[in-house]
Amino acid sequence: MELSLRTVRTFNRLLRKPLGIVAHRSVTGTAVKEEVNTELLNVFNRDINNGGAVPVFRRALLFPTRVALQDELGIYTYAGLYQAASVLSQEIAAQLVGESDRTIAYMCNNDASHVIAQWAIWMTGNIAVPLTPLHPPEMLKYYLTDSYSSLVLCTQEFEKVLRPITLEMHKPLLVMGRDNVLTAQLYQPNTSFLKPKAENNLTDVGKSNEWYGNNEALIIYTSGTTSKPKGVVWTHSMLQTQISALHSAWQYSANDVVLHTLPLHHIHGQLNSMLASLAAGARLRMLPSFVSHNVWSRLLGMGERDETKVTVFHGVPAMYARLVADYDRMFSDSKTAEYVRTTLGSRMRLMCAGSAPLPAQLFLKWEEISGMRLLERFGMSEVGMALSNPYRPVEARSVGCVGLPLPGVSARIVSQREDTGELEPLVTVETPVPETQICLDRLGLSSKDFFLDSDKYEWKAPTITKHKELTENVYHGELLIKGPAVFTRYWNRSPTLNASDFTEDGWFRTGDTASFEDGKFRILGRTSVDIIKTGGYKVSALQVESAILDHPSIADAAVLGIEDENYGEIVSAVVVLKENAKLTLQELKEAAGKKLAPYQLPKTLLVTNEMPRNAMGKLDKKVIRQTFGKQLVMPKK
Ligand code: AMP
Repeated sequence: MELSLRTVRTFNRLLRKPLGIVAHRSVTGTAVKEEVNTELLNVFNRDINNGGAVPVFRRALLFPTRVALQDELGIYTYAGLYQAASVLSQEIAAQLVGESDRTIAYMCNNDASHVIAQWAIWMTGNIAVPLTPLHPPEMLKYYLTDSYSSLVLCTQEFEKVLRPITLEMHKPLLVMGRDNVLTAQLYQPNTSFLKPKAENNLTDVGKSNEWYGNNEALIIYTSGTTSKPKGVVWTHSMLQTQISALHSAWQYSANDVVLHTLPLHHIHGQLNSMLASLAAGARLRMLPSFVSHNVWSRLLGMGERDETKVTVFHGVPAMYARLVADYDRMFSDSKTAEYVRTTLGSRMRLMCAGSAPLPAQLFLKWEEISGMRLLERFGMSEVGMALSNPYRPVEARSVGCVGLPLPGVSARIVSQREDTGELEPLVTVETPVPETQICLDRLGLSSKDFFLDSDKYEWKAPTITKHKELTENVYHGELLIKGPAVFTRYWNRSPTLNASDFTEDGWFRTGDTASFEDGKFRILGRTSVDIIKTGGYKVSALQVESAILDHPSIADAAVLGIEDENYGEIVSAVVVLKENAKLTLQELKEAAGKKLAPYQLPKTLLVTNEMPRNAMGKLDKKVIRQTFGKQLVMPKK
């Protein structure tokens, strides 16, 4: 145990008597006293100031009696999750004979068990490697080998999948809840968790905040569209910086009720939806997966109590597309449409989209349905969330754009010289680093002024440095990112600083082509697959996809560059049509020609029934090319 004596005393005091601020709140209909421990908060903030990191599980001690999570099985307080993780951490410690800094792979459903497993891994000072049951055994073996996992953890339902794999690989498997049953019942808010007062309820577990400030937390594997998936190493400090940046930019609060339906082996679901919400003391409502009609029913919250009604949703564009398709089927009569619009418009605080391009027609359709403008942002496994449209004013959220750097992010556009390959900076846009100290006032959790200087928590305007004056003021090239939340290494790979992933002066090369114009960034696509070089022009597949999705017959679209002896590459489209619709290439060209230049128009078209997409709902261009590439070649005249 490496907590300072003072911190231990503070914990013990927290458990014995209410300290500092007392707020009133209602959980499952009962008014409860909320005890916010100012002394503990001061210790945390002092540690953060000294370079430490307070992991999300430890923040739970600031608001133990609040409801943290609601899933299909039950409702859990922060104290309940903490307690369950603490019990599990003892089992992990026993398996690893107290070792820390090891990697532990874990497979859980999208529910409380995921949080409990992750917190338990962190409490023992080990590195969490989330696995998904969506991956076949061969992929799982790859992750276990590549991550050098010392232990595999799972809930009972995944034992069937993992037992043969771990036996074959001679890795220990710990099945959660076998000896200490982790049932919802046990961790539901009951009187003992609502009023944690016995010493053995919440004991101080984990390493010191100073230790967490210097150590690794999480490995997130990239989707591996061009090579084998690489493990991005996330430190506790990176997570803390990202959480502070998101809290400041998107104004998370303890009053948020966040609907979580994203896969948890990806940074979007881990960070935006889960960790940032739990770090704010919010209520997380976890569904096992995204099922459109279930999501609609949670968004509308019919028959639910006020404190459980959803106010925040983070989704990928494919999710919004499915919600729109269901809306058209179920809610199109004017009375229901009005009800949906009023309900969403009055209750939802924030609806975010990202991880893939948000087509213009989807942005506009969602605004029509809900009266809300989706907030589109850009992120990557390697950098977390990097660019975002503004939270306020809402009108400034623009279609097809990803806004400006989030707090602590520097973004640069470079062009590559054809002769020397050298990268020339064109424009750099930098936002000051976020305040990482915890401010309960900002989270809506207190009334006492610990931090009078609330201005330092604001998302500040960036500084823009133009390295070149361009006549049209449009900067176009590769996007580079730098900042305290950018990763510094892939797991099990040689140190990458100074290698091809980073420039010599430490900028991460995203591999995306972007533009900076009118004070905002726009993503044009992955340079290797989405930038099509055709007849001397460069065409962004993303822009063509967005334009052709406007066609009333098209339900889904992917645009590829297909090799061609005359043009170098040609623009080709694969589309899924709406029910009973028909479409010829000529008709598509005529309609899209109103939005696109002639050289951007598809020269070949293929209609299919289903579009290959990955677990995150992203177009899987590798598979699309493999499956349809030959049929998209331009016929010889
Ligand atoms: P991943 O690391 O799997 O999250 O994938 C990151 C990649 O997703 C980025 O490099 C972009 O190519 C893409 N991406 C993320 N957000 C957006 C966005 N808002 N618009 C377009 N592409 C995006």
